[in-house]
Amino acid sequence: MYIGGHWREPSGAWLRVFDPATGDEVGRVVAATPEHAGEAVEAASYAFPDWSGRAPDERARVLRKAHQLVLERVDELARALTLEQGKPVDEAKGEVLWGAEFLLWYAEEVRRPLGEILASNGPGQHLQVRRRPRGVVLCITPWNFPSSMILRKIAPATAAGNTVVLKPAEQTPLSATLLFEIFDEAGFPPGVVNLVCGDPAVIGETLTTHPKVRQISFTGSVEVGKLLLTQAARRITKVTLELGGHAPAIVFADADLELAAVKLRFSKFQSAGQSCVAANRVLVEAAIADEFAERLAAHADSVRIGHGLDPGIDVGPLIDAAATRRVRAHVQDAVSRGARLLAGGDVPQGLDADRFFAPTVLAGVSPESLICREETFGPVAPVISFRDEEHAVELANASDYGLAAYVFTRDLGRAYRVSEALDYGMVAVNDGALGWVQAPFGGIKQSGEGREGHRLGMEEYLDIQYVSLNY
Ligand code: ADP
Repeated sequence: MYIGGHWREPSGAWLRVFDPATGDEVGRVVAATPEHAGEAVEAASYAFPDWSGRAPDERARVLRKAHQLVLERVDELARALTLEQGKPVDEAKGEVLWGAEFLLWYAEEVRRPLGEILASNGPGQHLQVRRRPRGVVLCITPWNFPSSMILRKIAPATAAGNTVVLKPAEQTPLSATLLFEIFDEAGFPPGVVNLVCGDPAVIGETLTTHPKVRQISFTGSVEVGKLLLTQAARRITKVTLELGGHAPAIVFADADLELAAVKLRFSKFQSAGQSCVAANRVLVEAAIADEFAERLAAHADSVRIGHGLDPGIDVGPLIDAAATRRVRAHVQDAVSRGARLLAGGDVPQGLDADRFFAPTVLAGVSPESLICREETFGPVAPVISFRDEEHAVELANASDYGLAAYVFTRDLGRAYRVSEALDYGMVAVNDGALGWVQAPFGGIKQSGEGREGHRLGMEEYLDIQYVSLNY
């Protein structure tokens, strides 16, 4: 627990952290009480006038120093991430390095102009639009990307001049704690960034309804996102939400099928499918559906599963037994409705059935299946066939979610037509990744509101003020 520039001594309660691959305890952090949560907000509020009044370049210097320190400690950060979250250590390292890029990006972005001069109504009038930091921002982050989601929020929020209270996911507070060691060393003045870990049932509401919190930036489930919106309504607190997804990946017969399989292998199996942008429904043109499903199954079979710290592992465990049960239920439901299992389908031999699930490919999946309606959040690729372009778009858009979509085709006209017709915040054509620092990440419909990364990612943390100056 880091409040007002000090690490707090344990006051009794601990939050224990477990390795999802073994169930062993791998660490513990101080658990915050509601009083601590309140103190963290007060510390952030106290620090705001000074921090927001500093020159942008001065704020940027701290971010650049933090970036350098993350690079120096990347192996340690990656190892902690693997121990608490499970993903293979090389993937964890990739996540840490990607997260660090947001520090650099926003250290630069803060120097760019953020205002406008408007047409005046006559001589002696000057109409200008400026952006100003809001104050205290509460950042709430999930367990699936425990390092990068923190940096993607804290970098733009602090660059813009706000101060922050972070509440990381209770499953993964180790990455957060190490990042705060880095923030401390990088030179954030006391109170600019504060860390409280703990059970959301204990500290959640104190944080989200605190009168000094001006904004909540949340990444997590739709269910909790809706709850936070309701709580925020009491004080009209601004909320930005990055919620679930149910990404379609549309593969046309004219596509480079091997490229599509390779990209989907990444999109579907990285982080064991526990990503909001993971391809959840693989929609394939009927003429090549069987051939493509076989190709994807060969990729799934080649994936090595195990403890993320072991060499050569591609996919680690799921976060907990409930996650494994949900994935198994989705697979069983699809099979009971006629789907054929081409790869995986259960726990690989020798591994714990409550923790691991083999990369799985299902062919001939009925659109009625659970897996076609709900986010699986696991390493399962259901292949669903479609007739033509119109049918593909109709199936893809039949979802309350609208985060990410993928399209594979060599036809340029079709690439434009289909991407424009998709009701999604992000569309990748012939690629399986979307989260670049310079691009606006975010969804529409029930996938959320607001963008992260890009120039817009910093604008989210700024109020607009219009000044009419007459002389
Ligand atoms: P998941 O289902 O993927 O675990 P959640 O939405 O439950 O996702 O969790 C995402 C983040 O939201 C975590 O940091 C979690 O502690 C936090 N969270 C969950 N419930 C609340 C709440 N009622 N108030 C504030 N934060 C919450």
